[in-house]
Amino acid sequence: MASEEVIYTIAYMLISVCLVVPPNEFRAAGLTIQNIFSDWLGSEDIDFVRYHIKRSTATILFHSFLPLGYLLGYAFCFSNSDLLQPWKLQLFWQISITVSILLPLISGILSYYWSQNDWKKHPIALRASYHGDSWQSVAAIIDVEFRRIDKFQTGPPGRRVIVTDSWILQTSTYLMDIARQDDVHLNTIESQNFNFTDESTVGVQYISLNVISVNPNISQFTIRMNATEYGDFKAKLRTQIINVRNIIIQETITERFAEAFRQQVVSNGVYRLPAGSQEPDSCIGCMQVPANIKLTKLCDDNNVGDCVSCNCRPMWCLTCMSKWFASRQSQDSPQNWMSSKSPCPTCRSKFCMLDVRLVAMTRY
Ligand SMILES: [Zn+2]
Ligand SMILES: [Zn+2]
Ligand SMILES: [Zn+2]
Repeated sequence: MASEEVIYTIAYMLISVCLVVPPNEFRAAGLTIQNIFSDWLGSEDIDFVRYHIKRSTATILFHSFLPLGYLLGYAFCFSNSDLLQPWKLQLFWQISITVSILLPLISGILSYYWSQNDWKKHPIALRASYHGDSWQSVAAIIDVEFRRIDKFQTGPPGRRVIVTDSWILQTSTYLMDIARQDDVHLNTIESQNFNFTDESTVGVQYISLNVISVNPNISQFTIRMNATEYGDFKAKLRTQIINVRNIIIQETITERFAEAFRQQVVSNGVYRLPAGSQEPDSCIGCMQVPANIKLTKLCDDNNVGDCVSCNCRPMWCLTCMSKWFASRQSQDSPQNWMSSKSPCPTCRSKFCMLDVRLVAMTRY
């Protein structure tokens, strides 16, 4: 391939990827299938299920045209290429042309087949119909509940999880999962912790849950959400969540911060009590565990920066110290907490995360 052809190929692939998984810039410019076909799709708020039946069909149709679009564009841009005389081409190109014509043909026939009898055969309509007499009757119930403002909603635009009073729904590019709350049980299966993201240095925790329906026609599916949304999600559920793996869910920023704080303190090394000093008493914050935190300026030389070495003996435990530290920070900007300072709870000397050490139980 000559260099212009490579550029054309890369550009076409980039645009295709952006159309299939639209980045925020494409969404802002309205370059999404939902926008392009908005007249035909109707309103999601009024006709939620029908909207997604049509949206998934339009998506499949649109995506199936992408390979053919590539070849037509190629023939148009490079009119001297042999693409217009396929019989002269290598077998690979002949197969590519055949496939790129078959794809929209098959998806066109499929879409036509699905659309017969008011979309009765569409996979989303079939999934809905397993919950009642007809897909339309089930859709009517879902539509009403979707319109209520107290529904729970999360996830990126292409993969939203929606919990209404009696349904758990998950949209995806070509399909939609539909489960009735009364039929399902939920299992927490995984938690993923990301310590540093664009939004937060405190870290983000994502929870994955399996939705398993007792209805044999409904296959199980997995939903995923930020741990901070877990409380709202649970509040909207009528069923219990089973947590066999005992996954610790950090629902609040303070809980997530406590984990980041602990990791930092552990990596700071330990403080050994001087010979002859007395064992630390119970933490004066919680009175539950022995105090095990010592603050000493370690982040820089003694005369540099505004941290001050504190001479207090260990009086606090790790958990209480992380809560204290979090409570001294601006609640609006958790992204700055890890790099911020706090006064010692006893003597008010300033310290930062690097100055906090665990007390070792062995002495010098
Ligand atoms: Zn404590
Ligand atoms: Zn102090
Ligand atoms: Zn410091």
